[in-house]
Amino acid sequence: MINAVLHCRAMKPPVLRVAVPSPLRRTFDYLSPVDPAPAPGVRVRVSFGRREVIGVVVGSGPDSEFPRERLKPATLVDSAPLLTPDVTELLRRAATYYHHAPGEVFATALPVALRQGAPAQVRAPRRYRLTGPGRAVDPADLRRAPRQAAVLALLAAHPDGLDEEVLVERLAGARDAARTLAGKGWLSVEERACLQAVPADPAPAPVLHPTQQAAVEAVLAGVGGFGVYLLDGVTGSGKTEVYLRLIEATLARGEQALVLVPEIGLTPQLVERFRRRFAVPVAVLHSGLADGERLCAWLAAREGQAPVVIGTRSAVFTPLARPGLIVVDEEHDPSFKQQEGFRYSGRDLAILRGRLAGVPVVLGSATPSLESLHNANEGRYRRLSLPERAGAASHPAVRLVDLRTQPLYDGLSPELLKALDAHLQRGNQALLFLNRRGYAPALLCHACGHVFDCRRCDARMTLYAGDRRLRCHHCGADHAVPARCPGCGGEQLRPVGRGTERLEEALQQRYGSGVVRIDRDSTRRKGSLANLLGQVHGGDARVLIGTQMLAKGHHFPNVTLVGIVDADQGLFSADFRGAERMAQLIVQVAGRAGRAEQPGEVLIQTHHPDHPLLARLTAHDYGGFAAEALAERRAAELPPFSHLALIRAEAGSLEAALRFLEAAAALARRQPAGVELLGPVPAPMERRAGRHRAQLLLQAARRADLHRLLDGLAPALETLPEGRRARWSLDVDPAEMF
Ligand code: ADP
Ligand code: ZN
Repeated sequence: MINAVLHCRAMKPPVLRVAVPSPLRRTFDYLSPVDPAPAPGVRVRVSFGRREVIGVVVGSGPDSEFPRERLKPATLVDSAPLLTPDVTELLRRAATYYHHAPGEVFATALPVALRQGAPAQVRAPRRYRLTGPGRAVDPADLRRAPRQAAVLALLAAHPDGLDEEVLVERLAGARDAARTLAGKGWLSVEERACLQAVPADPAPAPVLHPTQQAAVEAVLAGVGGFGVYLLDGVTGSGKTEVYLRLIEATLARGEQALVLVPEIGLTPQLVERFRRRFAVPVAVLHSGLADGERLCAWLAAREGQAPVVIGTRSAVFTPLARPGLIVVDEEHDPSFKQQEGFRYSGRDLAILRGRLAGVPVVLGSATPSLESLHNANEGRYRRLSLPERAGAASHPAVRLVDLRTQPLYDGLSPELLKALDAHLQRGNQALLFLNRRGYAPALLCHACGHVFDCRRCDARMTLYAGDRRLRCHHCGADHAVPARCPGCGGEQLRPVGRGTERLEEALQQRYGSGVVRIDRDSTRRKGSLANLLGQVHGGDARVLIGTQMLAKGHHFPNVTLVGIVDADQGLFSADFRGAERMAQLIVQVAGRAGRAEQPGEVLIQTHHPDHPLLARLTAHDYGGFAAEALAERRAAELPPFSHLALIRAEAGSLEAALRFLEAAAALARRQPAGVELLGPVPAPMERRAGRHRAQLLLQAARRADLHRLLDGLAPALETLPEGRRARWSLDVDPAEMF
C-alpha cells in the first residue's frame, strides 16, 4: 500500500502555482521538479510563452485545472525560500486584495537582480582599505612579495578603499595578496558597503516625559503579538523619541525593527538620528538606490544582519529574519500609496504584515489620516496621545490674515510682511509655504487674452521665468517662452498668479541674498537638497520658501515665523480628501515654527477667514477638525464609511475610453448587489499627455461586497474586446479621485 502511494507520487509530481511576470491576474501551473513540492517563496525558472522567466512559487497542490500533460516543468533557482513565509503570504493577499497580477506584485517585492534569477548573495561585497599599520609598512619589507606591495601601493592611492572585484581587475593575483594583507591587519575588509555603522551619539537619550513613557510601555506590553498603536502626537512632541525607545527594546530582544517613512531623500536627518542612536548597521531601502546597493540592503535585512531597516513604501515587503516591530512614520502621508501599476498602500500593508508576523505596528503622525482615526475610534487601534511639545518648545501662536480688500505685495499682505521684517530683524529665520512651483501657473497675452495651454493636456503651461521656459506639470512638455503671442503677435505676455520661483524673486528684492527655495525643481540634482538644508541650518539662509516638501519632518530650530501664503488652495477642492490634505499640510508646516527655545508664530493668509476648517487649525484643534470631517464623511457615505474602487481608462479618443468603462459597468451590473456604480464619466482632467481619460467609481457600504464583485469583474475585464483600444487600471482604496 505504502509502496503504491510512493509509486503513484513518483508518477505524479506536485503542481506548483507560480507567480510569473505577466499582467494577467492569475498564477500559472507548472510541474514541480521535486516531491514534496518546494515551499512557497522559492524562485523557479519556467518557460512562459516563448520566454524563460523567473517566477515565485506561491503554493502547490496535487492537481491542476489543466491536463497534466500540458503542464511544463519548473526548475528550482533557490534551495530554500527567498521570501519569508509572512512576506509570501503578504504578497499573495495583496494581489487578492488589490486585484492585481500576482507576477507584478511579487516583482515589486524583489530587487532587480533577484527578479532576474541572481543567487541570493551579495555580488560586490568585499571592500579593502589601508589600516593605520598598513599605511606605516615600508614597501622595502615586502620585496619578496611584490603582489602584496602592489596592492598596498594601489590602496594608498585610494583612501576610500577598493572593491575586491576592482583590485582583481587591475592586478592579477590581487585576491590572495589582499587576503594575506588583511590577515596581517594591514588592510581592513568591509563585507557590506551598504551597512556602514557610524559611531554612537555621545549625548545621552533624553528622559522620557510621562506621556512618552506611557506610550512606550503600552506598546511594550503588547510585544509578542500583533496590535496596532496610533501614536497621535503634535509636531515636536517626541514621537521619534518613542520610536527610538521601542527600537532599542526590539534590538535588546535580538529582533529587527522595520521603519517606513514617506520619502527618505527628504528626511536625511531622520536616518542619521537612527544611525547615531544605536551605532548598529542600518539598512536603508528606497527607490533612489543603485541595484547593487538595494540588493545588499535587502539581503542584509533578510539574513538578520541589519537590526534596523528604514525604507519607503516598498520596504514593507522586505523579508526580516527576526521581525520584532514595525513603525510607520507620518502615516497620513499620501506617498505611502503607490499611484501607478500595483496601487497598494504601504501603510495598510504594514498593518497586514504586522498581523502575519505577529508583531506590534506603530502608526505615528501629528495629523493622523481620517481612516486611522476612525479605526482608533472603533477600537481597532489603540490610541496613544502626546499632546504637548517635548523639551522647551511651546505651541506656536496661529493667526489668520484676512486678505479681503487688503493691498497685496507679490501676494504678501502688509501684516505678513511686517511680521517677516520683525522676525528677521531679531536674527531669526522665516518659512513661507506655497504649494505651487514655478514662477506662475499661467502666462497670458495682455493684448488678446490668449492663454498658453498645454497642447496635450487640459491644463495651463507653468511659466519658469528663470530659464524662460513653459512647462506642463502633467505631461512634462517643455518649450521656450515665445517672444510674441501666437494669437495676435503682441509682445505683452504677462504671468498670472504666482509660484515659489516668483515669491523667491520678490523676497530677494526685499531682503537681498539669504533667500532659499526648496521644491522639486530646486532639488532635482543629487545633493542639492542637502546643500539647501545646509544653508538653512548653517544660518546663511534667512528666508525659506517651499512647497509641501517642507512639511516633511524637517527640524528648523531657528525658524520662528511660518507664513502660509495661500490657504485657500485646498478649501474648495474637487477631491473629497482636499480639506483633509490641506489641514495636514498647514499643521505640518506650522509645526516647523519655534521648535527650539524661541516661541513661534504662524500667519495663515486667506480670503475665507470664517471657514470652519481654518478656525479649527488656529485653535490647534486638528482633532476637532478631524471629528467634524469624519462626521461629514459619514453623512456623505464616503470613506472610511464606505469602500471605493476606481476603474480608470484612457484611450486615443474619449469615446473609446467610455466604451470600455460602459462594458465594464454592464459586467458589474450582472454581479451580486451591494455595490453602487458611479459613472462612467470623463476624468476631471480629461486629456492628459494626448490621451483621453474616463473613470468608473464603485462604492460599497461593506468591503466584502466590493471585493466579491471585483473577484469576478477584474479577470473579466481582461477579456473585454473594448479593452484592446483602451489602457485601463483598477485602483482599490484610491487616494486620488482623478
Ligand atoms: P516628533 O517626532 O514628534 O516631531 P521628536 O522626537 O523629533 O518629535 O522630538 C522633538 C525634539 O524634542 C527633538 O529635538 C528631541 O530630541 C526632543 N525631545 C524628545 N523627547 C524629549 C524629552 N523627553 N525630553 C527632552 N527633549 C526631548
Ligand atoms: Zn501637458
